[in-house]
Amino acid sequence: MDSLLTEKKIYDVLVVGSGVAGMYASLQFDESTSVLMLSKYESNVSNSNLAQGGVAAVLDLQDDSYDLHIQDTMIAGGQANDIEAVDVLVREGPDDVRNIMDNMGVEFDRNEDGTLDKTLEGGHCRRRIMHYKDSTGAEMVRKLLKETEKHSNIELSSNTALYALSRVKSGFRADIIKDGKLGSVFCSYCILCTGGIGRIYKYTTNPKTATGDGIRIAYELGAKIKNLSYIQFHPTAFNSEDGEQFLISESVRGEGAVLLNCNKERFMHRYDERLELAPRDVVSKSIILESRRTGSNNFYLDITHEDPEFVKWRFPGIYQGCMRYGVDMTKDLIPIFPCQHYLMGGIETDIDAKTSVPRLYAAGECANTGVHGKNRLASNSLLEALVFSRRAAQDIKRCMAAGFPTVGEYPSPIDNITGGAPVPKGVKTEIREILQRGYFVLPDNGKIRSGRIRIDNLLGRLKNGNFAITTELCEILSMATAAHIILNEVDER
Ligand SMILES: Cc1cc2nc3c(=O)[nH]c(=O)nc-3n(C[C@H](O)[C@H](O)[C@H](O)COP(=O)(O)OP(=O)(O)OC[C@H]3O[C@@H](n4cnc5c(N)ncnc54)[C@H](O)[C@@H]3O)c2cc1C
Repeated sequence: MDSLLTEKKIYDVLVVGSGVAGMYASLQFDESTSVLMLSKYESNVSNSNLAQGGVAAVLDLQDDSYDLHIQDTMIAGGQANDIEAVDVLVREGPDDVRNIMDNMGVEFDRNEDGTLDKTLEGGHCRRRIMHYKDSTGAEMVRKLLKETEKHSNIELSSNTALYALSRVKSGFRADIIKDGKLGSVFCSYCILCTGGIGRIYKYTTNPKTATGDGIRIAYELGAKIKNLSYIQFHPTAFNSEDGEQFLISESVRGEGAVLLNCNKERFMHRYDERLELAPRDVVSKSIILESRRTGSNNFYLDITHEDPEFVKWRFPGIYQGCMRYGVDMTKDLIPIFPCQHYLMGGIETDIDAKTSVPRLYAAGECANTGVHGKNRLASNSLLEALVFSRRAAQDIKRCMAAGFPTVGEYPSPIDNITGGAPVPKGVKTEIREILQRGYFVLPDNGKIRSGRIRIDNLLGRLKNGNFAITTELCEILSMATAAHIILNEVDER
């Protein structure tokens, strides 16, 4: 059995997640602080690893300003953003971006003169997106992971799922599943960085990690959850039958691609004067309205008018991804359709990433800092993951410096017991169908009501059944809980 479940039991900080938020949080602690960082699957399977477009930040005040970035963020968010959090994001974010470049080896594309090659995305009024070709997230994950390996105080345990947290004196008991076994560790502080909920949809850009585990675990502990129904549907995923959809980044439109309907005609002028560069929610809604007008779900992205060599150089990952489906984007139209992409709401936090439960923090996509309002501005989420995970760590360091008591070891009520019935098949599929039909780009009130009843029924059965505690059960419980909160929130609005 893994030594994690048999030997070391007590950590100063438990960081749940090894995406950008989890790794950047872990890297803030010095060698005297023991950090256990969990990753549900392999350490590089995460939303972070798939991020294409880039990270937005005002690094140069000559042609841009913090006020303009704040303004763009607020406009995209429908002015429903928390202005204090946006202010922190925009003003502190540039130093975090410099930190990962200067001290952690993260590279972004540069022009021939050595300056950063900043790109443009929907909703931004200036070129302020730093990117590494079209695989920015993978570059960040690779370099941050390398950095964590240099720190002996950080213990990374992959293929390890947090199943539940419970409060004990001066900290938490964390029940975790590793290699099919259950065990407990104890920590004085916990930072949840578990990412989004995309997998509760039939079609999403999110990988298998995104089942909302951290949100369920925080909710069960009594933490406040806010705006879980603020879900972003990306307008341009490659239109295929795959559950995990391949994203065609916003930056393709930023570099001049246009949207076409089933008649191969541009249509965005009917819906918004910003055309293809309107914020994501506007473009997604426009596509659905246009599909109703034309009676067809066939839509395309066209970048064939650009120099093929530039397209291949600028978008190597997207080019290859399209080629896997037999589409050469330098010559062919790319078939696209909206799908679930991002969660704006989540575990409610303040600007130090503190949740409503003492010593529990949340950062990255699982958190609701309020920076995104009702709709995230492109490339603001990697920035959010950096800024607020650092703030969580800084707050914990302040508590430690102030001499807050630390956790001890307690008996574990779950002692490697994996008995119980296997979790029923088909539950994940049913949850996904309910969300896809009822609460997609333009919600369907009737289906929301019936879906809510069905989800509550499923959740009751899952909680009362004597099922074996496995990662599968962890995920199904999380998906059903997230669906329950979302549909209740929408139905009662
Ligand atoms: C295709 C795609 C493209 C994107 N492009 C961009 C972009 O260009 N710019 C931008 O700013 N944003 C982009 N985003 C969004 C951005 O990538 C994410 O919001 C951000 O990376 C989230 O980081 P995170 O660390 O919070 O979560 P993640 O990176 O998703 O990491 C979550 C971690 O939590 C772990 N975890 C989950 N549950 C458990 C559990 N029960 N136990 C243990 N570990 C658990 C997972 O294993 C994983 O390590 C994109 C997202 C996708 C999907």
